[in-house]
Amino acid sequence: MAGKRKAYVRLQCAVCKRFNYFIHSSKRKADAGTKLEMKKHCSNCKKHTNHKEAK
Ligand SMILES: [Zn+2]
Repeated sequence: MAGKRKAYVRLQCAVCKRFNYFIHSSKRKADAGTKLEMKKHCSNCKKHTNHKEAK
């Protein structure tokens, strides 16, 4: 049997557009239907920036 394909979402820095975080979508089913957005540290910008969900 083939393994389940794991769905995940990428969090993209709103400033430099880099993908800094990868999270499994199963962890956000409580937020289903809404775009994930959070403040996270970006190693490229060297500061906390807004990170948005990208497919
Ligand atoms: Zn950045």
